[in-house]
Amino acid sequence: MTVPTSTAAGLDPAQIRADFPILAEQVHERPLVYLDNAATSQKPRAVIDALHTYYETYNANIHRGLHALSERATAEYEAARSHVASFINAAHPHEVIFTRGTTEAINLVARGWGDENVSEGDEILLTEMEHHSNLVPWQMLARRRGAQLRYIPMDDEGRIDLEAYARMFGPRTRLVAVTHMSNVLGTITPAAQIVRIAHAHNVPVLLDAAQSIPHLPVDVQALDADFMAFSGHKMLGPTGIGVLYGRESLLDAMEPLFGGGSMIRVVELHQSSWTGLPDRLEGGTPNIAGAIGLGAAVNYLQTVGMPSLTDHEHELTVYALDLLSDIDGIRLFGPPDAHERGGVISFYVGDVHPHDVGTLLDADGIAVRAGHHCAQPLMRKLGVPATVRASLYLYNTHAEVDCLAEGVARAKAFFA
Ligand code: PMP
Repeated sequence: MTVPTSTAAGLDPAQIRADFPILAEQVHERPLVYLDNAATSQKPRAVIDALHTYYETYNANIHRGLHALSERATAEYEAARSHVASFINAAHPHEVIFTRGTTEAINLVARGWGDENVSEGDEILLTEMEHHSNLVPWQMLARRRGAQLRYIPMDDEGRIDLEAYARMFGPRTRLVAVTHMSNVLGTITPAAQIVRIAHAHNVPVLLDAAQSIPHLPVDVQALDADFMAFSGHKMLGPTGIGVLYGRESLLDAMEPLFGGGSMIRVVELHQSSWTGLPDRLEGGTPNIAGAIGLGAAVNYLQTVGMPSLTDHEHELTVYALDLLSDIDGIRLFGPPDAHERGGVISFYVGDVHPHDVGTLLDADGIAVRAGHHCAQPLMRKLGVPATVRASLYLYNTHAEVDCLAEGVARAKAFFA
């Protein structure tokens, strides 16, 4: 196969790679081949610099101080919120609530919206491919409120049966909570159709967008999603910062999860009242540096251009699926057609345990993930204890995919 040096869309990985200091590192005296992007992405210098600049030149708490540093920190924190809002095309910046990540964002909805709106006998629709973060909070809510979880039929490649899904709605359906892109199969779910069907029954939809927003252009208004949750660290930003996007009317009606500073209007000895969005749902000093870093990450992604990023990853995914499928005895999970999926590629080689494959790849400087990927019900459905998962991002190259395929073939031969 001919290996292009840059993609048709014009994204030049060599140029991009120069922006990521860690990609010049050696691991076990080999050049680092980083293919664990679904777990967390690497950070460009622009993000690292934004964190340094905050701590070195205007570190202060926000929304409180009447001094110059605090005013600047507040302005940069709120500018980051606006950047994220425009990145996902939210109608208002205050529809972006900063959280620690996807997990916290989903728990915020399960508590703040769920406890108010879900009662005994009500139903929540999920899929069997959810990450534990979009499963356990609903199990906890169901236990608190006596509600039921129901699972939307899907095939082993993560394709949702939309007709069966449409038939699941009844008077007790309260919420649909599904992934926008599977962190194991790579499957991109038909989010707009899922939302349209739910809205025809006046049921809101939460999309777990932890894997989609870093890799696809996402427009929350076009999707008409009610809630979306995602993590900064998977989209070039720092850890400890993420987002709950919510439709204004829903966020406005939500009970805060964290009572404390910044979220109040008036506090008396026995009662208090809350302030408006977004502060009402961000009690306590937030991750100021993290939010500023996420703002820088979003700027970086916008400068690269999400459509070219998606094209580049699509091309690499096609290439990787092609090379890997040539390896004798490999079982590739997820849709074989790259148009239905993103660059998350899970596989099992012969009867070699995924941890052994991961360890051998690591010895070659190749970072992948091996395990259940926080999706134990999906592993059970697929009939495997674990998979090896290689996941791509904008800085990955065809040569790195070659290294992966060669490494997997070597691992297979080693354990034969
Ligand atoms: N959902 C999906 C689909 C994910 O891939 C992840 C991260 N692996 C999460 C939720 C949880 O994200 P975080 O740990 O950043 O809260």
